[in-house]
Amino acid sequence: EPVILGPKEHGINPQLLSPNAVRVTQTLQEAGFKAFVVGGAVRDLLLGVKPKDFDVATNATPEQVKRLFRRAFIIGRRFQIVHVMFGQELIEVTTFRGASADSAPKDEHGRVLRDNTFGEQHEDAERRDFTINAMYYDPASQTVLDYHNGIADIRNKTLRIIGVPEARFREDPVRLLRVVRFAAKLNFTIDPATREPIQVMAPLINNVPAARVFDEMLKLLLSGHALACLRQLRHEGLHHGLLPLLDVVLEQPLGAKFVTLALSGTDERVKHGKPVSPGFLFASLLWHQVLEKWNAYKAAGEYPIPALHLAADDVLNAQTEKLALQRKIASDMRDIWAMQPRFERRSGKSPYKLLEHVRLRAGYDFLLLRCASGEIEAEVGEWWTAFINGDGAAREELLAKKI
Ligand code: ATP
Ligand code: MG
Repeated sequence: EPVILGPKEHGINPQLLSPNAVRVTQTLQEAGFKAFVVGGAVRDLLLGVKPKDFDVATNATPEQVKRLFRRAFIIGRRFQIVHVMFGQELIEVTTFRGASADSAPKDEHGRVLRDNTFGEQHEDAERRDFTINAMYYDPASQTVLDYHNGIADIRNKTLRIIGVPEARFREDPVRLLRVVRFAAKLNFTIDPATREPIQVMAPLINNVPAARVFDEMLKLLLSGHALACLRQLRHEGLHHGLLPLLDVVLEQPLGAKFVTLALSGTDERVKHGKPVSPGFLFASLLWHQVLEKWNAYKAAGEYPIPALHLAADDVLNAQTEKLALQRKIASDMRDIWAMQPRFERRSGKSPYKLLEHVRLRAGYDFLLLRCASGEIEAEVGEWWTAFINGDGAAREELLAKKI
């Protein structure tokens, strides 16, 4: 029942495929199984974009997959997938999943708690989120299998959920964030029927385990289109009470400039393939909230440094409840914030001490953002740029300068 498209019709450039993904499908097929490149990779190939990673779908069980590859690891307890490694590259191999969301166990809001049955390929297609994410590519025959008219939606740049929109969002409210991320990232229009229930269903996100929401938020913020995504979230009415983080980010007038600069910096880095630290990103998103609380503690008579630590605790605690900030990320954030007052001391030994801080680079980049956003004098950033890059004599001269 899927529409089958040959190379002339789909126009995929085979050069954009990862040789390792091709190797995985070939090995599985030679062992007698079905195997396809699936999901986001097929979507990107059809858009002429080089996919950043490759997923493979097969009718082989995880055990059967594992046996065929030298470096293969079964991951996950409830629904097992196999990670097949080739050097640094990871190919994720998933067994076709059953579509039986109707009979799956759900929470009181209708969110599916477990759907861990294997199924037929057409069922696997049906349980995917959007039509453009539910296509299968067979590198051997160079054909695309399209079960839900994804090709048409790729061509008219439409994001359309598979099935009844309300039911699909209810099953898994994370899809509300995904629809916004893809619309912004691909510059696609959300189909009206898909779009219609989004705003009323937004509160369902609150019932999703924090770790999943966090993963999806991170994908959104690191998509290279974070600013566009956040603009789209606001446009869809998804910013109110959805996540404390988004409330803070989107509704703080004073921090708007700072957050915009931080996100456009992140987007630029992602677009140029440079690494982005989630700690730096979240430290930026929440900085103005920290500032506000810091000022309140100081006004209440705390000394500046303990006041900053109290403010950081408050902000981190409020976020971890909903967002499950990983411990490493939270500690990076705390480091970056705690370093900021130290940049104000520009005499004696303390600037030299700060040079030795392992997170100096992040703290300094953060300082530059504060300058660029107008929160503090540009001169502070310029002084530190000169101090960090200067030789011994230049540094002594900077320290001797009356500030
Ligand atoms: P990206 O390029 O941003 O990674 P992607 O489409 O590959 O986009 P993933 O989160 O990596 O997105 O998911 C891979 C595939 O798994 C999707 O294309 C989709 O088919 C399916 N999928 C992922 N999350 C869901 C979900 N919440 N509900 C239904 N299907 C999903
Ligand atoms: Mg992906």
